[in-house]
Amino acid sequence: MAKASIQAIRGMNDILPGESQVWRYFESTVKSVLDGFGYQEIRTPVVEQTHLFKRSIGEVTDIVEKEMYTFDDRNGESLTLRPEGTASCVRACEQHQLIANNQRQRLWYMGPMFRYERPQKGRYRQFHQIGVETFGMADPAIDAELIVMTHQLWKKLGIRDKVELELNTIGSNEARANYKAALVDYLSGVKDQLDEDSQRRLDTNPLRILDSKDQNTQSLLNDAPNFHDYLDEESEAHFAELKALLDEVGIEYKVNPRLVRGLDYYSKTVFEWITSELGAQGTVCAGGRYDGLVEQLGGKATPAVGFAMGMERLILLLESLNVIPDQVKSNIDVYLVSMGNVTTAAMALAAQLREAVPKLRLQMHIGGGNFKKQMKKADESGARFALILGEDEVKAGQASIKSLRDSAEQMTLNNDELANWLQQQL
Ligand code: ATP
Ligand code: MG
Repeated sequence: MAKASIQAIRGMNDILPGESQVWRYFESTVKSVLDGFGYQEIRTPVVEQTHLFKRSIGEVTDIVEKEMYTFDDRNGESLTLRPEGTASCVRACEQHQLIANNQRQRLWYMGPMFRYERPQKGRYRQFHQIGVETFGMADPAIDAELIVMTHQLWKKLGIRDKVELELNTIGSNEARANYKAALVDYLSGVKDQLDEDSQRRLDTNPLRILDSKDQNTQSLLNDAPNFHDYLDEESEAHFAELKALLDEVGIEYKVNPRLVRGLDYYSKTVFEWITSELGAQGTVCAGGRYDGLVEQLGGKATPAVGFAMGMERLILLLESLNVIPDQVKSNIDVYLVSMGNVTTAAMALAAQLREAVPKLRLQMHIGGGNFKKQMKKADESGARFALILGEDEVKAGQASIKSLRDSAEQMTLNNDELANWLQQQL
């Protein structure tokens, strides 16, 4: 009897060959943009002490209340698989004194995050983010830089027309506290009419009610107090300057006064890049300023602003828009077909070509078979060229190269010419 096969954990995906090519394309495109702006990579562990996330993300957020993968280590210490990257990044910067003396830092990270959510398209339990965090800069120019950088990434990926920027300011802690009180005051009067989640949030995290997906709640919010009436002068000026900068560089945005973020630590600027191509999971990149977080975690007050993008969602978007360059899906340029007793010579030629043409991706046929069978494998491999080596060619120091895609052109070159020719093709 067949045994039940072992499956991956629900909501946690394998990234298979073929897909992984697309991931690598996406990652290298993002890295080239980050490099262009002089950002540096930071890598932190995927597990941290639970209280790091409780203290930073906030006790009454969705993440901390119901989405964290928390377990006791063998020594009884409570650990959590990171649900996001900002807290770990701040922790590492503090621990290694990267920001202790108000140094400026522009950092990025990439990797898996874990949240116990209901799996659906664009929402998983293990998902991946590329995140950016900057420290030590209070100037709205850095908020603008982050937005300009993402905008440039969308251009490079060919999706600029398919994502829209929503922008808001959520002010200082004090302004937010005043507004929260006014909002709770108003919503308490209509509590019975709110959706269930919002009723609960009224006591725990009332600002989150602003982005409730419930139609009725949204229409009740039309008469709610307006945050912009409570905004402090400094945040207002910061927001005005950011908008002016974006106007000057020609980046369009929509001010959405109901845009709040799910994590407690934000202040002033918040933004999201949203697409309408992915259904309900439309936010592909989200971020904002968190000037209070470093201090909240025990460091010196340090201005900070960052964002994180959801890699699965962006890759889904690239796929649905068909904007992935063809060559991304192939991992081989040349497939080496060999006839007769030439294995050693084939290996030597392969080594010589790989060395002479560093970009070359050459795969050798293994396992014999007649010419026709090997050529079929060459074709299936997706390679652009078949390189054909037989005993006569080996004796003459030559090999034949045959185009498998654009034409059926075939020619015989000696080994040095071959390297030059391939160099020009790739
Ligand atoms: P959402 O409102 O969609 O739950 P969020 O506010 O919880 O998002 P952030 O914590 O700001 O998301 O994370 C930044 C980005 O990471 C999101 O905009 C999204 O693209 C991606 N993301 C968040 N949670 C998931 C998930 N469970 N699966 C896949 N991507 C996710
Ligand atoms: Mg969420």
